[in-house]
Amino acid sequence: MRLVFLGPPGAGKGTQARTLAAEQGIPHIATGDMLREAAASGTRFGIEAKSYMDQGALVPDEVVVGLVAERLGREDAKKGVILDGFPRTVAQAEALERLLKDLDLVLDRVIFFEVSERELLRRLTGRRVCRRCGTTYHLAFSPPRSLQRCDRCEGELYQRADDSEATVRRRLEVYAAQTAPLLDYYRSRGLLISLAGEGSPDAIADAVRRAAASG
Ligand code: AMP
Repeated sequence: MRLVFLGPPGAGKGTQARTLAAEQGIPHIATGDMLREAAASGTRFGIEAKSYMDQGALVPDEVVVGLVAERLGREDAKKGVILDGFPRTVAQAEALERLLKDLDLVLDRVIFFEVSERELLRRLTGRRVCRRCGTTYHLAFSPPRSLQRCDRCEGELYQRADDSEATVRRRLEVYAAQTAPLLDYYRSRGLLISLAGEGSPDAIADAVRRAAASG
């Protein structure tokens, strides 16, 4: 199973990708998580990536494509992957096509999560993430038992720097300009499946399983 999860920031891609990847026993490759790890490590590469992320801008294509190329080449990625937050530009989608071709692999489906802008703003500004295990909470919809600690692993919860309202608006603009064109790109290749990204996480997870298995 080789899937791309596509959608605006806050659409629930990460939560759903983590669930399906665990169920299928395949890697969840989230470029946002990889870039945040690099930023936290404080290397020159990470600091540079962070400067784009904190502004809500995209990290340059060649940087992200390099990260994904390295990850897709590892042994555990051969049996399947869920790509979350990549590709985000048409140039990245073209690079992915080449990478998979070189590895003699194909993309099975692109699952698009449809969520209204109002709902995205609500979700993103209330989001809190565990620094240790990546579990995502929401202050209103799925609050943690304690405001500071993860229910699962006791890790520290934090608000992503790019989840402030001004940066969220910028990220949504960047999505509309640079990532939304991928809908046509994948529709024209017959790979796109859209699903409603609003509702209970369990109901959405069912829709994701159906979409992943369809065809
Ligand atoms: P995410 O966690 O997917 O919302 O990504 C957080 C931030 O990481 C984005 O706003 C971008 O700055 C950067 N980023 C993540 N994935 C990509 C990508 N495929 N291309 C460029 N920048 C990315």
